[in-house]
Amino acid sequence: MENKTEYDVAIIGGGSAGLSAAIYASRGGMNTVIFEKALIGGQITTTADVENYPGFEENMSGFDIADKMRRHAEKFGTEIKQENITAIHMDDFEKYVETNSNKYKVKSIIVATGANPSKLDVPGEAKYTGRGVSYCATCDGALYRDKIVAVIGGGDSAVEEAIFLTKFAKKVYIIHRRDELRAVKLIQKRAFENDKIEIIWNSIVKEVKGGDFIEKIELYNKKTKKIRNLELNGIFIYVGIIPNNELIKSAVKLDSQGFILTDETMSTKIPGLYAAGDVVHKVLRQVITAASDGAIAAFSAEKWIEENKDKF
Ligand code: NAP
Repeated sequence: MENKTEYDVAIIGGGSAGLSAAIYASRGGMNTVIFEKALIGGQITTTADVENYPGFEENMSGFDIADKMRRHAEKFGTEIKQENITAIHMDDFEKYVETNSNKYKVKSIIVATGANPSKLDVPGEAKYTGRGVSYCATCDGALYRDKIVAVIGGGDSAVEEAIFLTKFAKKVYIIHRRDELRAVKLIQKRAFENDKIEIIWNSIVKEVKGGDFIEKIELYNKKTKKIRNLELNGIFIYVGIIPNNELIKSAVKLDSQGFILTDETMSTKIPGLYAAGDVVHKVLRQVITAASDGAIAAFSAEKWIEENKDKF
């Protein structure tokens, strides 16, 4: 395998954390590359309106914010490569990132691989994915104009996306396994006040059913112990996220859910290896905290490279 260009900072993942790290690292004079296997922007590109990023009082779509961040990073010289990193070698002063066809020597690595939506793991979910089961309201919501849909989950994502779906659907159920939502109060209030939204409490999805497309879901009410079939045209699953930690999970410390434990400098226990964004253990997962992690990780990487410049 060819041994390619040397970079000061290799960032794995081109979401908000990775892009922010790239802005800081490349502006700081580091030769910086982002590796992104899919679309630049990460999870935020699936958010229709971002309301709480400071300075953007006119809502912007997640896609537009990500695009601005990408241009910002490129302005300072960040290279973006659409390549899938399959392995990383993380000896202190001998670091490489590998794709299927290339191997790049780098000085430091920032893992900003984010998280993916959790699955419900119920019968019919996989079969009807793309045929009525979705994990992205921004992507698929418009397909459900005047239809009946349900959002599964009670967190910020579920409730925000349920509100978004009322732009298209005539009826939106929120199906939650408890009798209280987890989402922040302001978003809850908006959902409670929305005539198109009905919340089905204390209920879990047992099965997704249909013909070629989804037709109904079987719900089990944990309080009444009753089963009911709810007829609908689509479901949107927002039951949390799973960290994309595969590349380094055996080498670093993780919390009980697999999120990477870092210190306040975003360092892992391996010198020169940092983590940032949704893949990291934290109390608040927002664009701003991802961007903050990225900035700190880049700052730390730059400092570490400078302190060890004779050792590479
Ligand atoms: P989350 O906060 O972990 O919420 C997941 C929801 O799904 C919870 O209500 C949970 O129920 C429910 N759930 C989990 N497993 C389930 C299962 N197997 N069956 C049925 N329900 C299940 O996840 P999230 O909403 O995707 O948010 C992820 C992170 O991003 C959070 O930190 C969130 O604050 C942040 N976020 C913020 C914003 C914003 O501020 N604008 C928007 C989106 C996301 P329980 O409540 O009973 O645990």
